[in-house]
Amino acid sequence: MNDSRKSLGIPSRERVLILGGGYVGLYVALTLRRKARGKVDVTVVDPRPYMTYYPFLPEASAGSIEPRHAVVPLRQELTGMRLIQGSVTDIDHVHRSAGIATDFGDDQRVEYDQVVVALGSIARTLPIPGLQEFGLGFKYIEEAIHLRNRVLGCLARAASTEDRATRQRLLTFVFVGGGFAGVEAFAETEDMARAAMRHYPEIAPSELHFVMVEAANRILPEMGPAMGRYTTDQLRSRGMVVHLETLLESCVNGAIELSNGDRFDAATVVWTAGVRPSPVLRHSDLPLGPRGHVMCSPTLEVTTADGDVVPGAWAAGDCAQVPDLTAGDGAYCAPSAQHAVRQARHLGKNLARQLRGKEVRPYKHRHLGLVASLGLHKGVANVMGVKLRGWPAWFMHRTYHMAQIPTANRKARVILDWTTALFFRRDLVSMGRLHEPRRAFIEAAQSTPEPPR
Ligand SMILES: Cc1cc2nc3c(=O)[nH]c(=O)nc-3n(C[C@H](O)[C@H](O)[C@H](O)COP(=O)(O)OP(=O)(O)OC[C@H]3O[C@@H](n4cnc5c(N)ncnc54)[C@H](O)[C@@H]3O)c2cc1C
Repeated sequence: MNDSRKSLGIPSRERVLILGGGYVGLYVALTLRRKARGKVDVTVVDPRPYMTYYPFLPEASAGSIEPRHAVVPLRQELTGMRLIQGSVTDIDHVHRSAGIATDFGDDQRVEYDQVVVALGSIARTLPIPGLQEFGLGFKYIEEAIHLRNRVLGCLARAASTEDRATRQRLLTFVFVGGGFAGVEAFAETEDMARAAMRHYPEIAPSELHFVMVEAANRILPEMGPAMGRYTTDQLRSRGMVVHLETLLESCVNGAIELSNGDRFDAATVVWTAGVRPSPVLRHSDLPLGPRGHVMCSPTLEVTTADGDVVPGAWAAGDCAQVPDLTAGDGAYCAPSAQHAVRQARHLGKNLARQLRGKEVRPYKHRHLGLVASLGLHKGVANVMGVKLRGWPAWFMHRTYHMAQIPTANRKARVILDWTTALFFRRDLVSMGRLHEPRRAFIEAAQSTPEPPR
Protein backbone atom coordinates (compact mmCIF):
# COMPACT_ATOMS: atom_id res chain seq x y z
CA MET A 1 0.00 0.00 0.00
CA ASN A 2 2.90 2.29 0.86
CA ASP A 3 4.59 1.64 -2.48
CA SER A 4 1.50 2.50 -4.50
CA ARG A 5 1.12 5.79 -2.60
CA LYS A 6 4.78 6.62 -3.29
CA SER A 7 4.39 5.90 -7.03
CA LEU A 8 1.44 8.35 -7.11
CA GLY A 9 3.56 10.99 -5.38
CA ILE A 10 1.46 10.84 -2.20
CA PRO A 11 3.60 10.97 0.97
CA SER A 12 3.55 7.45 2.38
CA ARG A 13 1.97 6.84 5.75
CA GLU A 14 3.38 4.38 8.21
CA ARG A 15 1.09 1.35 8.65
CA VAL A 16 0.72 0.82 12.39
CA LEU A 17 -0.90 -2.45 13.48
CA ILE A 18 -2.09 -2.50 17.08
CA LEU A 19 -2.68 -6.03 18.38
CA GLY A 20 -5.31 -5.81 21.13
CA GLY A 21 -7.82 -3.05 21.80
CA GLY A 22 -7.71 -3.03 25.60
CA TYR A 23 -6.13 -0.38 27.82
CA VAL A 24 -2.89 -0.21 25.85
CA GLY A 25 -4.41 -0.63 22.39
CA LEU A 26 -7.05 2.07 22.91
CA TYR A 27 -4.70 4.64 24.43
CA VAL A 28 -1.92 4.08 21.87
CA ALA A 29 -4.45 4.59 19.06
CA LEU A 30 -5.86 7.76 20.64
CA THR A 31 -2.36 9.15 21.23
CA LEU A 32 -1.30 8.46 17.64
CA ARG A 33 -4.40 10.24 16.38
CA ARG A 34 -3.28 13.38 18.22
CA LYS A 35 0.48 13.13 17.84
CA ALA A 36 0.95 11.56 14.39
CA ARG A 37 -2.03 12.88 12.45
CA GLY A 38 -1.54 12.39 8.71
CA LYS A 39 1.57 10.26 9.24
CA VAL A 40 0.03 6.92 10.17
CA ASP A 41 -2.67 4.49 9.07
CA VAL A 42 -3.77 2.72 12.22
CA THR A 43 -5.41 -0.71 12.37
CA VAL A 44 -6.58 -2.18 15.69
CA VAL A 45 -7.32 -5.91 16.06
CA ASP A 46 -9.39 -7.33 18.91
CA PRO A 47 -11.99 -10.10 19.10
CA ARG A 48 -14.09 -7.84 21.31
CA PRO A 49 -15.40 -4.61 19.76
CA TYR A 50 -14.92 -2.83 23.08
CA MET A 51 -12.26 -2.01 25.67
CA THR A 52 -13.10 -3.36 29.13
CA TYR A 53 -12.63 -1.08 32.12
CA TYR A 54 -11.68 -3.96 34.46
CA PRO A 55 -11.80 -2.09 37.79
CA PHE A 56 -15.57 -1.80 37.28
CA LEU A 57 -16.14 -5.54 36.75
CA PRO A 58 -16.79 -6.23 40.46
CA GLU A 59 -19.35 -3.39 40.58
CA ALA A 60 -20.93 -4.55 37.31
CA SER A 61 -21.20 -8.01 38.84
CA ALA A 62 -22.69 -6.55 42.02
CA GLY A 63 -25.36 -4.56 40.17
CA SER A 64 -24.04 -1.08 41.06
CA ILE A 65 -23.14 -0.41 37.41
CA GLU A 66 -24.91 -1.48 34.25
CA PRO A 67 -22.39 -3.91 32.64
CA ARG A 68 -22.54 -2.15 29.25
CA HIS A 69 -21.28 1.01 30.93
CA ALA A 70 -18.08 -0.72 32.07
CA VAL A 71 -16.92 -1.13 28.47
CA VAL A 72 -15.92 1.45 25.86
CA PRO A 73 -17.06 0.77 22.27
CA LEU A 74 -13.98 0.86 20.02
CA ARG A 75 -15.72 1.77 16.76
CA GLN A 76 -17.25 4.84 18.35
CA GLU A 77 -13.92 6.03 19.80
CA LEU A 78 -11.52 5.07 17.03
CA THR A 79 -13.15 6.90 14.14
CA GLY A 80 -10.83 7.26 11.14
CA MET A 81 -9.00 4.03 12.05
CA ARG A 82 -9.51 0.49 10.86
CA LEU A 83 -10.88 -2.00 13.37
CA ILE A 84 -10.69 -5.73 12.67
CA GLN A 85 -12.88 -7.82 14.96
CA GLY A 86 -10.82 -10.98 15.24
CA SER A 87 -8.03 -12.77 17.08
CA VAL A 88 -4.36 -12.52 16.24
CA THR A 89 -3.07 -16.04 15.64
CA ASP A 90 0.64 -15.36 14.95
CA ILE A 91 3.16 -12.58 14.41
CA ASP A 92 5.80 -12.92 11.68
CA HIS A 93 7.86 -9.84 12.42
CA VAL A 94 10.64 -10.74 10.00
CA HIS A 95 8.09 -10.34 7.19
CA ARG A 96 6.12 -7.69 9.10
CA SER A 97 2.76 -9.42 9.03
CA ALA A 98 0.28 -10.90 11.50
CA GLY A 99 -2.27 -13.67 11.02
CA ILE A 100 -5.82 -12.88 12.08
CA ALA A 101 -8.80 -15.21 12.47
CA THR A 102 -11.82 -12.96 12.27
CA ASP A 103 -14.94 -13.65 14.28
CA PHE A 104 -16.79 -14.23 11.03
CA GLY A 105 -14.85 -17.26 9.87
CA ASP A 106 -12.31 -15.84 7.42
CA ASP A 107 -8.57 -15.76 8.10
CA GLN A 108 -6.33 -13.02 6.80
CA ARG A 109 -2.76 -11.72 6.96
CA VAL A 110 -2.27 -8.05 7.66
CA GLU A 111 1.00 -6.36 6.76
CA TYR A 112 2.48 -3.50 8.73
CA ASP A 113 5.46 -1.22 9.12
CA GLN A 114 5.18 -0.89 12.91
CA VAL A 115 3.53 -3.32 15.30
CA VAL A 116 2.28 -2.52 18.80
CA VAL A 117 1.84 -5.67 20.89
CA ALA A 118 -0.97 -4.98 23.37
CA LEU A 119 -2.45 -8.45 23.83
CA GLY A 120 -2.72 -8.26 27.63
CA SER A 121 -2.99 -11.37 29.79
CA ILE A 122 -5.21 -14.36 30.51
CA ALA A 123 -6.08 -16.16 33.75
CA ARG A 124 -3.14 -18.11 35.21
CA THR A 125 -4.71 -21.47 35.98
CA LEU A 126 -3.26 -24.62 37.55
CA PRO A 127 -3.96 -28.29 36.76
CA ILE A 128 -6.37 -28.71 39.67
CA PRO A 129 -8.90 -31.56 39.23
CA GLY A 130 -12.28 -30.12 38.25
CA LEU A 131 -11.10 -26.53 37.77
CA GLN A 132 -11.34 -26.40 34.00
CA GLU A 133 -14.80 -28.02 33.98
CA PHE A 134 -16.27 -26.27 37.01
CA GLY A 135 -14.43 -22.97 37.64
CA LEU A 136 -15.45 -19.50 36.50
CA GLY A 137 -13.00 -16.79 35.46
CA PHE A 138 -13.35 -13.13 36.36
CA LYS A 139 -11.60 -11.21 33.60
CA TYR A 140 -14.29 -10.39 31.08
CA ILE A 141 -17.61 -8.61 31.21
CA GLU A 142 -19.51 -11.76 30.22
CA GLU A 143 -18.01 -13.52 33.25
CA ALA A 144 -19.09 -10.66 35.54
CA ILE A 145 -22.65 -10.81 34.16
CA HIS A 146 -22.68 -14.60 34.48
CA LEU A 147 -21.47 -14.49 38.09
CA ARG A 148 -24.18 -12.04 39.08
CA ASN A 149 -26.94 -14.09 37.45
CA ARG A 150 -25.51 -17.26 38.91
CA VAL A 151 -25.38 -15.93 42.49
CA LEU A 152 -28.92 -14.57 42.30
CA GLY A 153 -30.04 -17.80 40.60
CA CYS A 154 -28.53 -19.87 43.43
CA LEU A 155 -30.42 -17.81 46.01
CA ALA A 156 -33.67 -18.39 44.11
CA ARG A 157 -33.08 -22.15 43.81
CA ALA A 158 -32.03 -22.48 47.45
CA ALA A 159 -35.18 -20.65 48.53
CA SER A 160 -37.30 -23.18 46.66
CA THR A 161 -35.88 -26.36 48.21
CA GLU A 162 -36.11 -27.83 51.70
CA ASP A 163 -33.19 -30.22 51.14
CA ARG A 164 -30.47 -29.11 53.54
CA ALA A 165 -27.50 -30.42 51.57
CA THR A 166 -28.71 -28.85 48.32
CA ARG A 167 -29.31 -25.51 50.02
CA GLN A 168 -25.88 -25.57 51.62
CA ARG A 169 -24.22 -26.33 48.27
CA LEU A 170 -26.15 -23.63 46.41
CA LEU A 171 -25.36 -21.04 49.07
CA THR A 172 -21.60 -21.70 49.19
CA PHE A 173 -19.41 -19.51 46.94
CA VAL A 174 -15.66 -20.09 46.76
CA PHE A 175 -13.17 -17.51 45.43
CA VAL A 176 -9.59 -18.60 44.85
CA GLY A 177 -6.89 -15.89 44.86
CA GLY A 178 -6.67 -12.85 47.14
CA GLY A 179 -5.09 -10.20 44.92
CA PHE A 180 -6.99 -6.94 44.51
CA ALA A 181 -9.17 -8.20 41.61
CA GLY A 182 -10.09 -11.33 43.59
CA VAL A 183 -10.74 -9.50 46.86
CA GLU A 184 -12.91 -6.90 45.14
CA ALA A 185 -14.92 -9.57 43.32
CA PHE A 186 -15.30 -11.58 46.57
CA ALA A 187 -16.37 -8.60 48.70
CA GLU A 188 -18.65 -6.94 46.13
CA THR A 189 -20.43 -10.20 45.28
CA GLU A 190 -21.03 -11.01 48.95
CA ASP A 191 -22.35 -7.49 49.51
CA MET A 192 -24.81 -7.94 46.65
CA ALA A 193 -25.89 -11.41 47.83
CA ARG A 194 -26.38 -10.10 51.37
CA ALA A 195 -28.49 -7.21 50.04
CA ALA A 196 -30.53 -9.63 47.91
CA MET A 197 -31.28 -11.82 50.99
CA ARG A 198 -33.81 -9.17 52.02
CA HIS A 199 -36.04 -10.57 49.28
CA TYR A 200 -35.54 -14.22 50.30
CA PRO A 201 -37.20 -14.66 53.71
CA GLU A 202 -36.91 -18.45 53.18
CA ILE A 203 -33.11 -18.25 53.67
CA ALA A 204 -31.48 -17.48 57.03
CA PRO A 205 -28.51 -15.04 56.80
CA SER A 206 -26.29 -17.67 58.47
CA GLU A 207 -26.86 -20.03 55.52
CA LEU A 208 -24.83 -17.83 53.13
CA HIS A 209 -21.17 -18.91 52.90
CA PHE A 210 -18.50 -16.93 51.11
CA VAL A 211 -15.08 -18.60 51.26
CA MET A 212 -11.77 -17.19 50.05
CA VAL A 213 -8.78 -19.46 49.52
CA GLU A 214 -5.35 -17.81 49.29
CA ALA A 215 -2.00 -19.59 49.01
CA ALA A 216 0.06 -16.76 50.59
CA ASN A 217 -0.04 -15.71 54.22
CA ARG A 218 -1.98 -12.51 53.42
CA ILE A 219 -4.44 -11.05 50.95
CA LEU A 220 -4.06 -7.82 48.97
CA PRO A 221 -0.25 -8.07 48.83
CA GLU A 222 -0.23 -4.99 46.56
CA MET A 223 -1.40 -2.83 49.50
CA GLY A 224 1.10 -3.88 52.14
CA PRO A 225 0.75 -6.07 55.27
CA ALA A 226 -1.26 -3.61 57.40
CA MET A 227 -3.98 -3.10 54.81
CA GLY A 228 -4.03 -6.83 54.04
CA ARG A 229 -4.62 -7.58 57.74
CA TYR A 230 -7.29 -4.89 58.01
CA THR A 231 -9.10 -6.27 54.95
CA THR A 232 -8.95 -9.85 56.27
CA ASP A 233 -10.45 -8.70 59.60
CA GLN A 234 -13.07 -6.62 57.81
CA LEU A 235 -14.18 -9.55 55.65
CA ARG A 236 -14.19 -11.99 58.59
CA SER A 237 -16.28 -9.56 60.65
CA ARG A 238 -18.88 -9.79 57.87
CA GLY A 239 -19.04 -13.57 58.37
CA MET A 240 -16.91 -14.37 55.34
CA VAL A 241 -14.29 -17.11 55.61
CA VAL A 242 -10.70 -16.26 54.58
CA HIS A 243 -8.29 -19.24 54.45
CA LEU A 244 -4.64 -18.09 54.24
CA GLU A 245 -1.70 -20.37 53.36
CA THR A 246 -4.24 -22.75 51.86
CA LEU A 247 -4.52 -24.30 48.41
CA LEU A 248 -7.52 -25.49 46.45
CA GLU A 249 -6.65 -29.13 45.74
CA SER A 250 -9.75 -30.32 43.94
CA CYS A 251 -13.21 -29.09 42.92
CA VAL A 252 -14.62 -31.90 40.78
CA ASN A 253 -18.33 -31.13 40.28
CA GLY A 254 -18.14 -28.63 43.14
CA ALA A 255 -16.75 -31.09 45.75
CA ILE A 256 -14.17 -28.76 47.31
CA GLU A 257 -10.98 -30.14 48.85
CA LEU A 258 -8.59 -27.70 50.50
CA SER A 259 -5.00 -28.32 51.58
CA ASN A 260 -5.97 -27.58 55.22
CA GLY A 261 -8.21 -30.66 55.21
CA ASP A 262 -11.55 -28.88 54.73
CA ARG A 263 -14.05 -30.72 52.51
CA PHE A 264 -17.39 -29.24 51.49
CA ASP A 265 -19.67 -28.76 48.46
CA ALA A 266 -20.06 -25.49 46.58
CA ALA A 267 -22.15 -24.57 43.55
CA THR A 268 -19.76 -21.80 42.49
CA VAL A 269 -15.97 -21.58 42.27
CA VAL A 270 -14.44 -18.33 40.96
CA TRP A 271 -10.77 -18.40 39.98
CA THR A 272 -9.01 -15.07 40.46
CA ALA A 273 -5.47 -16.32 41.14
CA GLY A 274 -3.39 -14.08 38.90
CA VAL A 275 -2.66 -13.65 35.22
CA ARG A 276 -0.06 -14.67 32.64
CA PRO A 277 0.84 -13.03 29.33
CA SER A 278 -1.21 -13.80 26.23
CA PRO A 279 -0.29 -17.27 24.90
CA VAL A 280 -0.43 -15.92 21.31
CA LEU A 281 3.04 -14.49 21.92
CA ARG A 282 4.40 -18.03 21.70
CA HIS A 283 3.33 -17.97 18.04
CA SER A 284 5.54 -15.00 17.24
CA ASP A 285 9.19 -14.50 16.33
CA LEU A 286 9.52 -11.66 18.85
CA PRO A 287 11.94 -12.31 21.75
CA LEU A 288 10.17 -13.43 24.93
CA GLY A 289 11.32 -13.23 28.54
CA PRO A 290 11.44 -16.18 30.98
CA ARG A 291 7.74 -15.88 31.89
CA GLY A 292 6.49 -15.44 28.32
CA HIS A 293 6.32 -11.62 28.16
CA VAL A 294 7.61 -9.59 25.22
CA MET A 295 10.84 -8.03 26.41
CA CYS A 296 11.00 -4.23 26.19
CA SER A 297 13.46 -1.43 26.72
CA PRO A 298 12.33 1.50 28.90
CA THR A 299 11.41 3.27 25.63
CA LEU A 300 8.81 0.51 25.10
CA GLU A 301 10.56 -0.80 22.01
CA VAL A 302 10.84 -4.60 21.87
CA THR A 303 14.37 -5.83 22.60
CA THR A 304 16.34 -9.06 22.35
CA ALA A 305 17.77 -10.75 25.45
CA ASP A 306 21.00 -8.80 24.82
CA GLY A 307 19.08 -5.52 24.90
CA ASP A 308 19.21 -4.81 21.16
CA VAL A 309 16.16 -2.98 19.85
CA VAL A 310 13.99 -4.92 17.36
CA PRO A 311 13.10 -2.24 14.79
CA GLY A 312 9.40 -1.64 14.15
CA ALA A 313 8.13 -3.53 17.24
CA TRP A 314 6.66 -1.95 20.38
CA ALA A 315 4.88 -3.41 23.41
CA ALA A 316 3.33 -2.38 26.72
CA GLY A 317 0.89 -3.48 29.43
CA ASP A 318 0.30 -6.93 30.89
CA CYS A 319 1.95 -8.78 27.98
CA ALA A 320 5.21 -6.80 28.22
CA GLN A 321 8.19 -6.94 30.54
CA VAL A 322 8.98 -3.25 30.97
CA PRO A 323 11.88 -2.23 33.27
CA ASP A 324 10.68 -0.22 36.29
CA LEU A 325 13.20 2.63 36.40
CA THR A 326 11.89 3.80 39.78
CA ALA A 327 12.74 0.48 41.44
CA GLY A 328 16.31 -0.19 40.39
CA ASP A 329 18.05 -2.87 38.37
CA GLY A 330 16.16 -6.04 37.49
CA ALA A 331 12.73 -4.70 38.53
CA TYR A 332 9.78 -4.74 36.11
CA CYS A 333 6.51 -2.84 36.11
CA ALA A 334 3.67 -4.85 37.70
CA PRO A 335 0.63 -5.63 35.55
CA SER A 336 -1.77 -2.82 36.38
CA ALA A 337 -4.09 -0.39 34.66
CA GLN A 338 -2.06 2.45 36.12
CA HIS A 339 1.05 1.37 34.20
CA ALA A 340 -0.88 0.22 31.11
CA VAL A 341 -2.48 3.63 30.49
CA ARG A 342 0.70 5.60 31.09
CA GLN A 343 2.85 3.21 29.08
CA ALA A 344 0.35 3.37 26.21
CA ARG A 345 0.39 7.17 26.07
CA HIS A 346 4.18 7.12 26.32
CA LEU A 347 4.49 4.50 23.59
CA GLY A 348 2.21 6.49 21.27
CA LYS A 349 4.29 9.63 21.81
CA ASN A 350 7.57 7.75 21.27
CA LEU A 351 6.30 6.18 18.06
CA ALA A 352 5.21 9.61 16.79
CA ARG A 353 8.58 11.10 17.81
CA GLN A 354 10.47 8.37 15.96
CA LEU A 355 8.41 8.98 12.82
CA ARG A 356 9.43 12.65 13.00
CA GLY A 357 13.09 11.59 13.37
CA LYS A 358 13.27 12.62 17.02
CA GLU A 359 14.80 10.69 19.91
CA VAL A 360 12.56 8.35 21.92
CA ARG A 361 12.33 8.75 25.70
CA PRO A 362 12.34 6.21 28.56
CA TYR A 363 9.16 5.43 30.49
CA LYS A 364 9.37 6.13 34.21
CA HIS A 365 6.45 6.09 36.60
CA ARG A 366 6.34 5.44 40.32
CA HIS A 367 3.27 3.34 41.11
CA LEU A 368 0.93 5.58 43.10
CA GLY A 369 -0.79 2.79 45.05
CA LEU A 370 -4.19 1.16 44.90
CA VAL A 371 -7.79 1.68 45.87
CA ALA A 372 -10.20 -1.24 46.28
CA SER A 373 -13.90 -1.40 46.90
CA LEU A 374 -15.17 -3.99 49.39
CA GLY A 375 -18.87 -3.44 48.74
CA LEU A 376 -21.20 -0.47 49.07
CA HIS A 377 -19.61 2.20 51.34
CA LYS A 378 -16.70 -0.08 52.25
CA GLY A 379 -13.17 0.08 50.88
CA VAL A 380 -9.47 0.17 51.45
CA ALA A 381 -6.79 2.38 49.88
CA ASN A 382 -3.06 2.87 50.04
CA VAL A 383 -2.16 5.80 47.82
CA MET A 384 1.32 7.36 48.02
CA GLY A 385 1.65 6.01 51.56
CA VAL A 386 -1.70 7.45 52.70
CA LYS A 387 -3.83 4.61 54.05
CA LEU A 388 -7.60 4.95 54.11
CA ARG A 389 -10.28 2.54 55.29
CA GLY A 390 -14.05 2.22 55.14
CA TRP A 391 -16.18 4.99 53.64
CA PRO A 392 -13.32 7.44 52.75
CA ALA A 393 -11.48 4.69 50.84
CA TRP A 394 -14.68 3.65 49.07
CA PHE A 395 -15.35 7.29 48.11
CA MET A 396 -11.79 7.64 46.85
CA HIS A 397 -12.24 4.45 44.80
CA ARG A 398 -15.32 5.89 43.13
CA THR A 399 -13.85 9.33 42.40
CA TYR A 400 -10.54 7.87 41.16
CA HIS A 401 -12.18 5.46 38.76
CA MET A 402 -14.67 8.07 37.63
CA ALA A 403 -11.72 10.20 36.59
CA GLN A 404 -9.99 7.23 34.94
CA ILE A 405 -12.73 5.54 32.89
CA PRO A 406 -12.22 6.70 29.28
CA THR A 407 -14.68 9.02 27.54
CA ALA A 408 -17.22 11.54 28.84
CA ASN A 409 -19.96 9.22 27.57
CA ARG A 410 -18.96 6.38 29.95
CA LYS A 411 -18.33 8.75 32.85
CA ALA A 412 -21.84 10.20 32.50
CA ARG A 413 -23.48 6.77 32.28
CA VAL A 414 -21.64 5.43 35.34
CA ILE A 415 -22.49 8.54 37.39
CA LEU A 416 -26.15 8.05 36.44
CA ASP A 417 -25.98 4.38 37.52
CA TRP A 418 -24.51 5.31 40.90
CA THR A 419 -26.99 8.15 41.43
CA THR A 420 -29.97 5.94 40.56
CA ALA A 421 -28.69 3.25 42.95
CA LEU A 422 -28.48 5.91 45.68
CA PHE A 423 -32.22 6.62 45.48
CA PHE A 424 -33.62 3.23 44.44
CA ARG A 425 -30.99 0.85 45.86
CA ARG A 426 -28.97 -1.41 43.61
CA ASP A 427 -30.61 -3.45 40.88
CA LEU A 428 -31.06 -7.05 42.06
CA VAL A 429 -32.88 -8.52 39.12
CA SER A 430 -31.58 -11.93 38.04
CA MET A 431 -31.41 -12.46 34.28
CA GLY A 432 -30.24 -16.07 34.29
CA ARG A 433 -32.36 -16.82 31.22
CA LEU A 434 -30.11 -14.49 29.21
CA HIS A 435 -27.78 -17.47 28.93
CA GLU A 436 -30.44 -19.57 27.15
CA PRO A 437 -32.16 -17.05 24.86
CA ARG A 438 -33.81 -19.71 22.63
CA ARG A 439 -35.36 -21.72 25.46
CA ALA A 440 -38.81 -20.09 25.44
CA PHE A 441 -39.03 -20.26 21.65
CA ILE A 442 -38.01 -23.94 21.57
CA GLU A 443 -40.57 -24.74 24.28
CA ALA A 444 -43.23 -22.90 22.28
CA ALA A 445 -42.30 -24.76 19.10
CA GLN A 446 -42.32 -28.13 20.90
CA SER A 447 -45.66 -27.68 22.64
CA THR A 448 -48.54 -29.44 20.91
CA PRO A 449 -50.76 -26.91 19.16
CA GLU A 450 -54.40 -26.91 20.25
CA PRO A 451 -56.69 -28.58 17.74
CA PRO A 452 -58.79 -26.05 15.80
CA ARG A 453 -62.30 -25.70 17.21
C1 LIG B 1 -11.21 -7.76 37.56
C2 LIG B 1 -10.01 -6.89 37.38
C3 LIG B 1 -9.89 -5.71 38.12
C4 LIG B 1 -8.76 -4.90 37.96
N1 LIG B 1 -8.67 -3.75 38.71
C5 LIG B 1 -7.56 -2.97 38.57
C6 LIG B 1 -7.46 -1.79 39.37
O1 LIG B 1 -8.33 -1.48 40.17
N2 LIG B 1 -6.33 -1.04 39.21
C7 LIG B 1 -5.34 -1.37 38.32
O2 LIG B 1 -4.33 -0.64 38.21
N3 LIG B 1 -5.42 -2.50 37.56
C8 LIG B 1 -6.51 -3.29 37.65
N4 LIG B 1 -6.62 -4.43 36.89
C9 LIG B 1 -5.52 -4.78 35.96
C10 LIG B 1 -5.61 -3.99 34.67
O3 LIG B 1 -6.94 -3.93 34.21
C11 LIG B 1 -4.68 -4.56 33.61
O4 LIG B 1 -3.37 -4.49 34.12
C12 LIG B 1 -4.78 -3.78 32.29
O5 LIG B 1 -6.04 -3.99 31.71
C13 LIG B 1 -3.67 -4.18 31.30
O6 LIG B 1 -3.89 -3.55 30.07
P1 LIG B 1 -3.53 -4.30 28.69
O7 LIG B 1 -3.89 -3.37 27.58
O8 LIG B 1 -2.16 -4.82 28.77
O9 LIG B 1 -4.49 -5.56 28.66
P2 LIG B 1 -6.07 -5.56 28.40
O10 LIG B 1 -6.68 -4.30 28.86
O11 LIG B 1 -6.56 -6.85 28.96
O12 LIG B 1 -6.15 -5.60 26.81
C14 LIG B 1 -5.77 -6.72 26.05
C15 LIG B 1 -6.69 -6.78 24.85
O13 LIG B 1 -6.19 -7.76 23.95
C16 LIG B 1 -7.27 -8.46 23.43
N5 LIG B 1 -6.80 -9.76 22.96
C17 LIG B 1 -6.52 -10.86 23.67
N6 LIG B 1 -6.11 -11.85 22.86
C18 LIG B 1 -6.15 -11.36 21.61
C19 LIG B 1 -5.85 -11.90 20.32
N7 LIG B 1 -5.43 -13.17 20.16
N8 LIG B 1 -5.99 -11.09 19.24
C20 LIG B 1 -6.40 -9.81 19.38
N9 LIG B 1 -6.71 -9.25 20.58
C21 LIG B 1 -6.59 -10.02 21.66
C22 LIG B 1 -8.26 -8.57 24.59
O14 LIG B 1 -9.59 -8.82 24.09
C23 LIG B 1 -8.11 -7.19 25.22
O15 LIG B 1 -9.04 -6.28 24.70
C24 LIG B 1 -7.73 -5.27 37.04
C25 LIG B 1 -7.86 -6.45 36.29
C26 LIG B 1 -8.98 -7.25 36.45
C27 LIG B 1 -9.11 -8.52 35.63
